[in-house]
Amino acid sequence: MEKSLTLDWGTDELHEECGVFGMYDLDGNDVASTIYYGLFALQHRGQESCGIAVSDTYGPKGVVNACKGMGLCNEVFTSEKLEKLKGNIGVGHVRYSTAGSSTIENTQPLVLNYVKGTLALAHNGNLVNAPELRRELAYDGAIFQTTIDSEVIAYHIARERCKVGTAEEAVANAMKKIKGAYSLVISSPRKLIGARDPQGFKPLCIGKRDNAYILTSETCALDTIGATFVRDVLPGEIVTINKDGIKSNLMMHDPKKEARCIFEYIYFARPDSVFDGVGVYHSRIYAGRCLAKDSPVDADIVVGVPESGNAAALGYSMESGIPYAMAFVKNSYVGRTFIKPGQSSRESAVRIKLNVLKEAVEGKRVVMIDDSIVRGTTSNLIVDMLREAGAKEVHMRISAPPFLYPCYFGTDIPSSEQLIAHKRTVDEICKVIGADSLAYLKMERLSEMANGLPICTACFSGEYPVDPPEEDIRGSYEK
Ligand code: SF4
Repeated sequence: MEKSLTLDWGTDELHEECGVFGMYDLDGNDVASTIYYGLFALQHRGQESCGIAVSDTYGPKGVVNACKGMGLCNEVFTSEKLEKLKGNIGVGHVRYSTAGSSTIENTQPLVLNYVKGTLALAHNGNLVNAPELRRELAYDGAIFQTTIDSEVIAYHIARERCKVGTAEEAVANAMKKIKGAYSLVISSPRKLIGARDPQGFKPLCIGKRDNAYILTSETCALDTIGATFVRDVLPGEIVTINKDGIKSNLMMHDPKKEARCIFEYIYFARPDSVFDGVGVYHSRIYAGRCLAKDSPVDADIVVGVPESGNAAALGYSMESGIPYAMAFVKNSYVGRTFIKPGQSSRESAVRIKLNVLKEAVEGKRVVMIDDSIVRGTTSNLIVDMLREAGAKEVHMRISAPPFLYPCYFGTDIPSSEQLIAHKRTVDEICKVIGADSLAYLKMERLSEMANGLPICTACFSGEYPVDPPEEDIRGSYEK
């Protein structure tokens, strides 16, 4: 068994960039505490920092109350802080940094005071042309306070707003310039605006509770606050919510350009969310069923690597008839402030996070389902842990095709050289991770997983729906 890979905690786990949540209560009730609970439901989308910015549509224009900080929602906000955030319109954000470093300056929402008033903006995704746009603005005299591309978007909207009559027109003009992935939630003094890029990379949906409207990344956040789902924001659509209801601008909507991030269905999103009519849970079950059909194996139990491997493992079990079992106990308290053990330490970060249930796997031939293999370090260790616990055989099945290319749209998939599947066959990867057999989901199954919706598969296929930048832009402002 080849064991050339070293374990470095945190490098083998992929992250989503952000989650967004906006709310406008037309009856004038404060929205900060509801935004907080919404962000709490989106915490899996970003754990480095979070923030809320609110204003009062009945109060003086130009006043925005904001609270932002590093850490999880329950670390940043207290009931006293939320109590001080008075206002019936606002936006919230949870962040993980894939472009722009993890600092307090880069936390969102961004609040912009400019000649036409104020804007609070929360963004999920990465732009591919942010460096050019940023240079252009800088030569025009703009002074940036952050290193995130969300500020480039905010600047463009503010600039356009000086030329046109409404904030939504300014958003539409800015959208003609920015390229890449963005789901935006913006509050202007009397409007809540949502926008999704023409590809629809990242999700965004509309909800309603009593006389309040919500815009958020995932439907699970609507369930959490007791709101009902109204509809998804379409790729390329701008929605404007004010006292007259919802107004839609489909200027940038073009079904031929749609390319949703399939990795939302495979891994990022919570299984209780539904995007564009397709349930995440359903798509993961389907992937597991496909793995059982396409890559069967004789085994005694099927287990999932928590959390996102669980539903696919259930699907594998349903299709194959092999009993589903729980093999891992996860410690859910490993948070951002977790002190990572050094390489020489006897403790392993993966073991601290996951432990094997010996009595479930001892003497068994195990099919283990995971959502992806990035560098292979974690998979290698988990296979070892199953063997140490007495598993007779470990057959690994992955509910996605092999990662071969980086993502420029807001996921921290690293460059090809760092990916285990780069220049290795499936058999070679199997040897490196030490499994008895290994199989990945077939490429053609991806579109079936999303019920035939147009999807982005660039990290597996190299076919980018928007031209990738010539240089690696991720983190480029710090270079
Ligand atoms: S490249 Fe992969 S992770 Fe990035 S948007 Fe496309 S499918 Fe999602």
